[in-house]
Amino acid sequence: MPAASGVTPDRSFDDVLTANAEYQARFRLAGLRPTAARGLAVLTCMDSRIEPLTLLGLEPGDAKILRNAGARVTDDVLRALVLARYLLRVDRIMVVAHTQCRLAGGTEEEVHAAVRAAGGPDTRSISFLVATDQRQALRDDVQRIWSWPYLGDMVVGGFLYDVETGRLSRVC
Ligand SMILES: [Zn+2]
Repeated sequence: MPAASGVTPDRSFDDVLTANAEYQARFRLAGLRPTAARGLAVLTCMDSRIEPLTLLGLEPGDAKILRNAGARVTDDVLRALVLARYLLRVDRIMVVAHTQCRLAGGTEEEVHAAVRAAGGPDTRSISFLVATDQRQALRDDVQRIWSWPYLGDMVVGGFLYDVETGRLSRVC
């Protein structure tokens, strides 16, 4: 991976390593159990405007957080949920989509074109799982979790988070 312009490769992570030294000095999570104390798994988008723990009033140790582009229920998400369900004490799952998501409201073709316009390669062999109808995609994704036979009895909800107001509303 080339470093961003203006950053030499061996200094590329200095800012975060320096911050970690400070974090370590006041580290208070030793001994925290790996199970989800609140029985929650939260799937949300990788959008950097979303603070999953904070917006839900959660602390480290409370929930399993899964993130991907668009908060979509992929095979990899289902794989993680099976482990969360049986090994990490998760019994309820929130799928949290958000307003202004780059992967909602448009089309797959538009995202391919945007990558191309940004100097990227032809990505048409990749599916970005763009949700043209975001609420319907959320319902479909929740249904996909419900109907996944490996998960058994789980409480599953679909939510929409507003990145401008901080409001979380239930969709399904
Ligand atoms: Zn998003």
